[in-house]
Amino acid sequence: MMTAQCATHCPPRGRRIALILGIALFLTSAGSSLAAEIDGCVVAPTDGLGHEVLVGFEATASSDWVELGEDLLLCGSSQSIARDLGQLADRTEARGEFHEPPRLFDGPRQDLILVEGYRSADSSNPTEVVAQGGRLAVVRRSTADLYTDLPLGHGHTTAREIPWNRVLVRLGENLAPRYPRRELASPRIQGLVTSIDGPRWLADVATLSSWSRHSTRSGTEIALARDWIYDQLEALPGFTVELDPFQLGASTIHNIIGTLTGSTRPEEIVVVGGHYDATSQSGTLSPGAEDNASGCAGVIELARAFSSHPPPVTMLFVCYSGEEQGLNGSEHQVDELQASGDDERVIHMLNMDMIGYTADADLDCLLETEDEFADLLTPYAEAAAAHTTLRIVTSLFAFGSDHVPFIDAGMPGLLTIENDWDQYPDYHSSGDVIANVDLDMGYQTLRMNVAALATLMDFDQSLFSDGFESGDATAWTQP
Ligand SMILES: [Zn+2]
Repeated sequence: MMTAQCATHCPPRGRRIALILGIALFLTSAGSSLAAEIDGCVVAPTDGLGHEVLVGFEATASSDWVELGEDLLLCGSSQSIARDLGQLADRTEARGEFHEPPRLFDGPRQDLILVEGYRSADSSNPTEVVAQGGRLAVVRRSTADLYTDLPLGHGHTTAREIPWNRVLVRLGENLAPRYPRRELASPRIQGLVTSIDGPRWLADVATLSSWSRHSTRSGTEIALARDWIYDQLEALPGFTVELDPFQLGASTIHNIIGTLTGSTRPEEIVVVGGHYDATSQSGTLSPGAEDNASGCAGVIELARAFSSHPPPVTMLFVCYSGEEQGLNGSEHQVDELQASGDDERVIHMLNMDMIGYTADADLDCLLETEDEFADLLTPYAEAAAAHTTLRIVTSLFAFGSDHVPFIDAGMPGLLTIENDWDQYPDYHSSGDVIANVDLDMGYQTLRMNVAALATLMDFDQSLFSDGFESGDATAWTQP
């Protein structure tokens, strides 16, 4: 578990003490009516607060707020901030004090802006980070232009106004325990989970990253990767595989789609996707081991699992191309689903993008979707708790990967991505090689994903509906 220690954006200890003194001064000035209209901001740590305290506080806060994982940013008059910090302290009384004292941002909220795709690993980071969570950061506006011009994010870094009074990123420990956690998954789901083979996944990541896979650059070996992916899916029992071509500029590139028809509710569709193209801003090779051989190999590994444990609904396993040039492969698939009306049949889309890197012993995984599909977080968080040691972080602010075209088209999409992404030093470079990919990080992410997918498609309910066990019968006797 990650401790309550300061993350990279926290001020050094000496400065923190100065900030606490600053807060005291700031709040003292709140007593003066002359200072009442001063607009300021404070970052309170959410860590250890829990769901009930956070939700109760946010419903009644008098300042504007935005929740970013460990950081709860409050902006308003000195009086409203003083009132809110008092309220938060009251609500946490039973739990003791803050793990860390709140931090003061010495400027008005108009100086702040949200950056999508913030990466602390980039040495070119030009500014002070006020609050950070998931793939988002609040920074000083005066330097935000530098972010939009730098290749910091997942190819789509932008700065935008802060959407106030919203939960953007929430720690798993602060999620609602909406359903009683199952002590033990059903034998059938357990059978699916244990069919995930971590070393086999890692070997596939190594194979894919042996080819330089830029979508269109001259010298790219992406066609070799494409044909290999096709062969992997084609070899699986029950699969129909197609190469789906589309244009990217002057080039014709391909998605690979493996279809497994549902046993009892074939009219419903679950899409499992991840891009197989890669890019590099330095050097000529684009091995993209973490970004995103890891996710594409994950698609193949989940396809194997469901091939041997047939699903009740139809599943499309898709490796996308053209992601790094702007989500072209997933947009193409969404266009096709809409053209045929099949978008109405899609009950869920899982996107895996960068699932195998960890910067430390804390295996943290980010689940990302939008408010309208927030219910998707529960089966993933529960699956993580039941089948893995992953620490879950969630975000209701989706951007910059292949789940986004699905969400924008009204289909319930979710991204799983390792949560140390912002620290990965070899992101979008020739150094993104297999040695950087962690077996356990990817393995556990796949265990979570296969169990969550099974829950979302009512995998257990498919049993005996046609009079026969459609899955792995041995799972009943060897849980
Ligand atoms: Zn990617």
